[in-house]
This record gives sequence, structure tokens and C-alpha cells, in this order.
Amino acid sequence: MGSLFASDALLASGWARDVLVEWDAAGIISRVEPGGEPGKHARAAGPVLPGIPNVHSHAFQRAMAGLAEFRGHPTDDFWTWREEMYRLVMRLEPEDVEAIARHLYIEMLRHGYTTVAEFHYLHNDRDGRHYEDRPEMANRIVSAAEDAGIALTLLPVLYAHGGFGHKVLSSAQRRFEGDPAFVIELLRELAAFHLPNPRLRLGVAPHSVRAVDALMLTELVDAARRFDATMPMHMHVSEQVGEVTECIETHGTTPLAWINDLVEVDDRWCFIHATHLTRIETRALGATGACVGLCPMTEANLGDGIFEFVPWFETRGPWSIGGDSHVSVSPFEELRALEYSQRLRHRVRNVIADEDAPDVAANLWLGAARGGAQSTGHPAGAIAVGRRADLVVLDGSDLDFEGLDAAATLGVALFSGNSNRVRDVMVGGTAVVSQGVHAQQEAAATAFRASLKRLRGAR
Ligand SMILES: [Zn+2]
Repeated sequence: MGSLFASDALLASGWARDVLVEWDAAGIISRVEPGGEPGKHARAAGPVLPGIPNVHSHAFQRAMAGLAEFRGHPTDDFWTWREEMYRLVMRLEPEDVEAIARHLYIEMLRHGYTTVAEFHYLHNDRDGRHYEDRPEMANRIVSAAEDAGIALTLLPVLYAHGGFGHKVLSSAQRRFEGDPAFVIELLRELAAFHLPNPRLRLGVAPHSVRAVDALMLTELVDAARRFDATMPMHMHVSEQVGEVTECIETHGTTPLAWINDLVEVDDRWCFIHATHLTRIETRALGATGACVGLCPMTEANLGDGIFEFVPWFETRGPWSIGGDSHVSVSPFEELRALEYSQRLRHRVRNVIADEDAPDVAANLWLGAARGGAQSTGHPAGAIAVGRRADLVVLDGSDLDFEGLDAAATLGVALFSGNSNRVRDVMVGGTAVVSQGVHAQQEAAATAFRASLKRLRGAR
């Protein structure tokens, strides 16, 4: 049903020359043939990469990206940033959420993300009441993703407590409030209305060890498994030292050990941040097949800390990247930040590589694509038969690519400059970005601007 001939394509085994990629009517790749002839097939205008899933998004936070950068306190950290975020939360209406998400998802596509996992916790109205139409906010996210043409994993969040020890929710947190029954009912209504849809997966997200208790966590996971045994499950874990300390004080153990004791952790799980895992936890997690969802730009912005990537890479444990607060909408920037954080930590160059796999850029791109597909539950993440034709074409005419082979091209794209080198993007074989442009980008920007005007006018 569709085809693309690439002079260079990044396959799971590495770069290949003269690759013919064909896909069927459902947008699933049916043939990948290196060493082929272009014939009458459309020719890619540059090196072709698998699209990257963005595994951790709080879309509404795009409206405050870069807005918490004045020091309010000598120990400004995640918790003071969160106060600024809560001020935004108190003002958002459903139409704002949809406008912000639509614009954001188009930006993501234009930078090479082809799937997004939305960690969706803005469930309730400004007074903290469930909407009469329970999935009101969730439907806005689905609609934004459909308009943009990005594949979506929607993860309704369970957020029940304002902190350890069943702490009462603040007024902003009441917009997130729900119990396991609410989340499961939300899933049922979303499934009834939107499924089947090959571009949409549903999952669940117990928010964090501070926002759920043991009973709720097990109840949610059991019910979700009965609903769909393959469902992705995401959870924030060990992002903050303060959270780890409080968890040990309350439960007598670290966040991951507490979770592992209560529920079966396996390859359907994705743990977001995982910044402060101990070596023992890293080894234990590696044995489960679960993925870690790293958000390097947000973690740097919030001063969270640095994930110990080297032991994880050595085990070839699955990992993925997320835009989280959307201070960046580019996988190139996230992957660069990930590698640089490790260089600064270990004071050596080219960390995410070894003798078997020396090409840092290819390791970063392929790892994030593969782990991203696992985390989001979409058949994506590789240019391979049976996977969805989510393809990213770099601009082969870029000045900096002159005279380079494909491997060097990706290195330049990842480690130099700030211009966007993505030219064309396909999701399931359908062109969503052509020559750098998304058909709806202007209309989406206009609606986003109107929301920002209203939201910021109220500051
Ligand atoms: Zn998050």
C-alpha cells in the first residue's frame, strides 16, 4: 500500500544502504530489503530513522515551559517548581488542555517523535469535582493526538493522596483526585468510545509512591490486568531524594522495593525517572524486563539528579525517553542531554557505547526507539517487518551533512547545533510532516496562543 526507498536507513542491526521499505494498508511494514533498487518507489530525501516514542508527557505543562527560572528561594528545587505548576493547574479549562496538547503533539512530530504516552492526571474540574462526562479531559487528549496524527498511549493516573501517610490533597491536587474504581471506570468509558483504534493504547499509571497506598496500588493493578493483560503500566519512581527518604521512613524500604513486594513487575512496566535507584535496585529491576523512562531535560531543569546509565546499559536493560514537562520537544536534545549527563558524571567521552557497539548516536537512537515501543505498547520502534511504518527522514541537504556517511550524519544531528534536521515524518506510513511542515501547525498555534493569552492574562 505504500513504500519508501532510502539510500540509508537505520535498521535494528545498524545502518543499511539502498533499503526498500514497504507497508500494508494498516501501515504495518511488510518488507525491508537492503541492497534494493529505487525503481518507481518514492525516494527519501535523507537518512531514514525509526520514529521515537515519547514515553512521558504531561501535555499541559508545555504552557509553563521555561517559566520557573527565577530564584524564589536559596534551595529552589522540584518542590518550588511544583508550586508554579499548581498555579497553572488551577486555571486550565478543557479547551486549554486540548489546544496545548494539539500544538505540543505537532511540535513533537516535527522533531521526530511519532508516539506519545500521556501520563494523564488532570481529571477533575477547577473545584475538584469529577466532570459530568467523566472522560471530558481524557477525550481532549485523544482528540488532540488524533488531530496531530501522533500515536497515543493514554495512561489515566491514580492520584489519591497528597503525600505519604494518606496526606490530604491540596486544592490544586484535587483536580487529580481519583480512586482505583474511578480510574477503571474511566478506562471502560474510553475503551467503549475509542477502541479499537490501532493508533491508541490504554494503560494505567499509579502516580507515585507518595500519591497511592498499598491497597490502592494492588487493587488498580489487579483490575487493570483483568481489563487488558497486556496493558502498559507507568509510575514515577525515585525522582527525588526527599521522596526516597520519606518512603524509607514510612514503609521501611525504598520505592521500587515497596512496589516489587506488592505487585508483579515485568516488561509491561515503565518506571519514570528512576534517578536514585541503588545498585541493588538496578540489578533487581534489570531482571524483571521492565523499562526505565528517562527524562533528561526535565530532570536537569528540576535539579533531580543523574540516572546511573552505565550499569543499566551494560545489562542492555530497556530504556526510553520522555519530554515530561516539555522544556524540550526534541528527541535529539533529550538524547544529547542523556549522553552529556553521563560524560559529566564520569568525566569521559562517548559513554553510551562499548566495543561491540561503538556508535554513540546509533546506540542512543535505537535504544530509545526500542524501549519506547515496549513502554508504550505500540508495535513501533524499529524499521522491521511487523512494525508500524513510523519513519523519520532527516534533511539530506542540510549544510552540516555535506560529504558525510549516514552514521556521521546522525552524530552531527545529535551532537551539534540547534536547528531541526527532521524533514519528513510518517506515522503508519501516513505523511504527517512534509518538508518540515505539519498541515495543521498554523491553526494549532493560533489556538495555543489564545489559550496562553487567557492563562497568562490571569497571572
Ligand atoms: Zn512526570
